[in-house]
Amino acid sequence: MQLIDIGANLTHDSFDHDRDQVMARARAAGVVQMIVTGASREHSPMALELARAHPGELFATAGVHPHHASDYTAECDAEMRALIAHPEVVAVGETGLDYFRDFSPRPAQRKAFERQLEIAVDTGKPLFLHQRDAHADFVAIMKEFEGRIGPAVVHCFTGTRAELFDCIDRDWHIGITGWLCDERRGQHLREIVANIPANRLMVETDAPYLLPRSLKPMPKDRRNEPMHLPHIVEELARDRGEDVASAAANATATTRAFFRLPTSG
Ligand SMILES: [Zn+2]
Repeated sequence: MQLIDIGANLTHDSFDHDRDQVMARARAAGVVQMIVTGASREHSPMALELARAHPGELFATAGVHPHHASDYTAECDAEMRALIAHPEVVAVGETGLDYFRDFSPRPAQRKAFERQLEIAVDTGKPLFLHQRDAHADFVAIMKEFEGRIGPAVVHCFTGTRAELFDCIDRDWHIGITGWLCDERRGQHLREIVANIPANRLMVETDAPYLLPRSLKPMPKDRRNEPMHLPHIVEELARDRGEDVASAAANATATTRAFFRLPTSG
């Protein structure tokens, strides 16, 4: 089984002391490639640096998460454009809207999102998107860019059935995380994931966040790692009524096509 983690926050400081071992454990678990999420002015250059140090295995995104939208100045826009020009940066983002936390004011979030969508238009690179409790505004802004942007993935999808169908109708890709394994808030996801077409479905850990709650035993430090991706795929395959091998093969093929990745090793 070969898997690709499309959302690994490997620049997070919780990995500073053992990043090489984390990567080795991922490899041993069949996670052959990873997309390192760039989500801020500080971490997007770090994601690129990590990808350049591990050619063919790690790739990066570059963007500014809605939490940090207040940082999105003209200077920041120039920094993002410079990062996204590198071949190791395979997507624009993480960008989008988050009205759940509202860490940045909503007008600033919308502005930063639009600026990054413009970069996607100019470069043709795919979009790595975040949306939480902002579906209507998210869809409205995306609509302004319809026909001009390349493929888009709504990463860590946690929305409703109606929102899922909105995304599928617009031909967006869907990223599924270990949120699915959360018996408190992931139950509704289990009931709708079978509706995602195989060629629009990708998988991710969002490590170090979102440790799958159905893991046994639970790691003591509660830190999520890319090596737990096979566990998420097993649960996802069960909910979709598929065998694990074909769920994995489909997600990997979809991911390579979406991010235009080379085959590994
Ligand atoms: Zn996110």
